[in-house]
This record gives sequence, structure tokens and C-alpha cells, in this order.
Amino acid sequence: MSNKKIRPSRIIDGWTKVIKGEEQEFSANRMSVCDTCPSKKVGMCIECGCPLMAKTKVIEEYCPLNKWSDVKHFEEEGITLVNLSTDKGVLSISKDGFQFVYHPLVEDDDSLLTFKIVNESDKKWEKISLKATCSCTLAEGLPSKLKNEDDTDFTVKYDTTIIGAFHKSLKLRSNGELLCLIRISGVVKRKDGKL
Ligand code: SF4
Repeated sequence: MSNKKIRPSRIIDGWTKVIKGEEQEFSANRMSVCDTCPSKKVGMCIECGCPLMAKTKVIEEYCPLNKWSDVKHFEEEGITLVNLSTDKGVLSISKDGFQFVYHPLVEDDDSLLTFKIVNESDKKWEKISLKATCSCTLAEGLPSKLKNEDDTDFTVKYDTTIIGAFHKSLKLRSNGELLCLIRISGVVKRKDGKL
């Protein structure tokens, strides 16, 4: 299971970025959410105890209340998913995992999504697989193992030669056990704008 406690190595990483003046877009977006949140008190998040100036700069960090739009945390299995393709759609959390909704697509559009996944559980994931039920949706780049507190990037792609609305589910498994679902959905229109 995940925990919401401060992770010193990440906060040091965040302060280093503050000192170096590394302005990142996601940091400003995250902080704008914190600025309207009642859990922000004198620059700290009272949910996790983190200094927000540093926390918001660490890409793997997540809001304990899942308020940040670019990253979501699935508490049940201790999984954090960062949307590195915010230009292509919106990530949200669901009761059994994650949901990504594409912005409107046109036939032959590049649908490649990149995510960062973090194993925040206390278990090492082994024999990892991420598969959809049909070949129109492909996931690539996940290693076969991911130890606790480790992260990696992977991609997901939908076949945009198929016109119409789609709703696909990818199952993330470790050692054959289901960790969560990653659902993707959207609409692909023809180049003439028709469905
Ligand atoms: S990290 Fe989340 S809970 Fe904490 S202050 Fe920011 S928006 Fe609120």
C-alpha cells in the first residue's frame, strides 16, 4: 500500500530544483491547484506534511487528494501514474484504476501516449504485463520487473485508422495478479469531419 508521508529524497530533489531555478510547467500548474486548496497551510500540505514549493517540482510526487491534473494515485495498489501527454488528453482516477480520455482525434492522428508509472507499494512487481483485449491498443516499454519506489516510462497507442468512439481497457498485472485497469477512450473522426 502507498503512504502519504514525506519522502526525504524526493523533497531534497525538489529543493534542488527550486535552488537551480528549474521552472517546470507542471510545477506551476500543480501549485495553482494547491493555492485554492484548504489543505495548504503556510506553504505546506497538511495531508502529507510536504513543503509544496519542493513537492510540486518532483514529477513522481502526487497530491494525496488526487487534485493535480497531471498525476493520479491509485491508493489500493500503491500505483502513481503521471500523464506525460497532457496535450493529448486528460487523466483521472477510477475505482479500479485510471482513465485517460483523448482530446478529439482525426483519422491517422498520432495517438501515442507516454506515462510514467511509480511502484509506491511495498511489493516488488514481477512478470509485469499490460495488455488490452484487442490489438487496436498497444502498450510498450514496461520492464518485466519494477521494485518498490522505482519508476519507469511506457507508451500506449490506439489505432486511429478505426473510425468512431472507443473504450478500451488495459490490464496491469504482476505475477499474473491484476493490479489495476488503465482505460482509454475517445472518438476518431474521418478527415472530412464525419464519424
Ligand atoms: S498537494 Fe493536494 S491536498 Fe495538498 S495542498 Fe496541494 S492540492 Fe491540497
